[in-house]
Amino acid sequence: VRRRPLVVVANRLPVTQTEDGWEASAGGLVTALRPVIAETGGAWIGWDDDADAVPRRVEGLHADLHAVSLTAEEVAGHYHGFSNRTLWPLFHDAVVQPVIDRSWWQAYQEVNRRFAEVAHRVIADADEPPLLWVQDYHLLLLPDLLRRLSPQSPIGLFLHVPFPPPELMARLPWRDQLLQGMLAADSIGFHTTRYRDNFVRSVQQLFTGITSLGDTLALPDGRYVQTVAHPISIDTEEFSDLANDPETERELAELREQFAGRKVFLGVDRLDYTKGIRHRLQSIELLLEEHPELRGEIAFVQIAVPSRDDVEEYRDLRTQVETEVGRINGRFTEPGSDVPVHYLYRGVPRTRLAAYYRLADVMCITPLKDGMNLVAKEFVTVQAAAGEAGTLLLSEFTGAAQEFEQDAVRCNPFDSEGTSHLMAAALQLDEGDRRQRIGRMAEAVRSCDVFRWVDDELSDIARGHASP
Ligand code: UDP
Repeated sequence: VRRRPLVVVANRLPVTQTEDGWEASAGGLVTALRPVIAETGGAWIGWDDDADAVPRRVEGLHADLHAVSLTAEEVAGHYHGFSNRTLWPLFHDAVVQPVIDRSWWQAYQEVNRRFAEVAHRVIADADEPPLLWVQDYHLLLLPDLLRRLSPQSPIGLFLHVPFPPPELMARLPWRDQLLQGMLAADSIGFHTTRYRDNFVRSVQQLFTGITSLGDTLALPDGRYVQTVAHPISIDTEEFSDLANDPETERELAELREQFAGRKVFLGVDRLDYTKGIRHRLQSIELLLEEHPELRGEIAFVQIAVPSRDDVEEYRDLRTQVETEVGRINGRFTEPGSDVPVHYLYRGVPRTRLAAYYRLADVMCITPLKDGMNLVAKEFVTVQAAAGEAGTLLLSEFTGAAQEFEQDAVRCNPFDSEGTSHLMAAALQLDEGDRRQRIGRMAEAVRSCDVFRWVDDELSDIARGHASP
């Protein structure tokens, strides 16, 4: 079947400006959409801080680019404020206190309207009503604004973060408006059935007259909304290739030499309080404390990718993490020998990242809450493609844990002591067992890759639109 043109609306445009000009950003969503948009044609609407300079087209991306231009004040209120200091912590189970600020809410509404204005122009220029696909928590009011502009368009919304339980959602003074904004979509996608169920319970508790039949919500005005669980994923071929890239091999040889004779525990995260990095450090400290025989025998490498450093909570977190790293190293380093904790405050190139994934004996993914966690999927894919046999230690509060039910070592990251025991136990697992677990998890990712995610999402948006 021929598909309608596709218009993606996301907070950011999928392009970056380099010395050589503009290029498509690397990222799962962009990779997965490229073949679809090449077939249907379409557009991408998003914010860029250099909006006036964004070209209409860039090489390799078949969509027209439409930049939303925002003032510094709008970015502060909508993005740094309401999106990242109200919704982000609220949707991640309030692991830090969400900040409630009415002026940020004003900016959030205003910026959602600005996105709708740009969408209006794109829709007016299209030959037929396009499929409109809204991404994430920055634009929750948009489905409603878009429906008014283009009643004939199928409209989808995908939430890349968790959806909180109703009693947390209820704290938000503007919960009704946000939920109404979302409910205007034909289909709302979540990573897991748990987030989907949280959403369904929230709307049923806050509004009267909504009934739920299977994955369909029937609204009092006679409309239907699909609510579906589609776990986002990765391009597995890309990571399998990366695993065996000559540059990865070269980097790995270097790392193996540096860490010779030591078991490596690895953490890879944006420096975000949802990732549980402080609790993880506490577990590492307990491990060294309770197992003197492991001192000098293990190394913990934490790659902390800088994130949102203009937000106070993130700057505080950095200080706390770096203080802890210093304290643990001060406590356990022996003169003349290597430190136990290797902390990198920076992003690393792809091949370096793949080399670390291959090097790791225990990949420590211990977020307090995480919508999905792609690092887990990348790790098992790279390990399996290169024949490695590491262990995945995975927090039960990640979306990924729902897919790796059997084969990851599941932990409760709030229980630092229990997690440190699991870290010790991971070192005792039999190699054949580890290899089989990695193989099964990689196969689960391969059969549910990011291309499948895009297909499932787009078909459900069309299905939701077609329902009476
Ligand atoms: N990543 C990166 N640079 C690095 C380390 C990691 O770009 O130095 C990538 C990693 O490959 C993964 C993403 O950052 O694709 C993190 O995604 P995840 O879903 O784990 O967490 P998020 O940052 O979206 O909360």
